[in-house]
Amino acid sequence: MSPPPKTSARRARDIGLDVRSPKERCDDRHCPFHGHLSVRGQIFEATVVSTAMQRTAVVERTILRRMPKYERYAKRRRRYLVHDPPCLKVRVGRLVRVAETRPLSKTVTFCIVEDLGDAARRTSGEDVVPVPAPSPKEEAQ
Ligand SMILES: [Zn+2]
Repeated sequence: MSPPPKTSARRARDIGLDVRSPKERCDDRHCPFHGHLSVRGQIFEATVVSTAMQRTAVVERTILRRMPKYERYAKRRRRYLVHDPPCLKVRVGRLVRVAETRPLSKTVTFCIVEDLGDAARRTSGEDVVPVPAPSPKEEAQ
């Protein structure tokens, strides 16, 4: 009893991350699944803002950063140019997982590795809202 052989059309490299492999196949040599690009380093989630470039997308990430002086959190945004492998067929408004790679150009050092669905429901950063600490008065009671 041997497992059924994988068809070559579906075969994608194991990139070492816990992500779903793309259903489609591509001939992009900078695709982590079908080319020779290795991913290592930072991994984060971001929203796709633009896909107007060829095989490059603009993604935006919002994080909450604590401001000690005001004891509050401020939103910080940053946009990244990331490689967009054609097999993932990513569209604007999608939440994607991005992983660091070697520099692919002057400004591109990340690559999209997974499409996580529509970003409208899940705004990145809002799920890390901190729980307010109890005030000293309530503790005294
Ligand atoms: Zn590919």
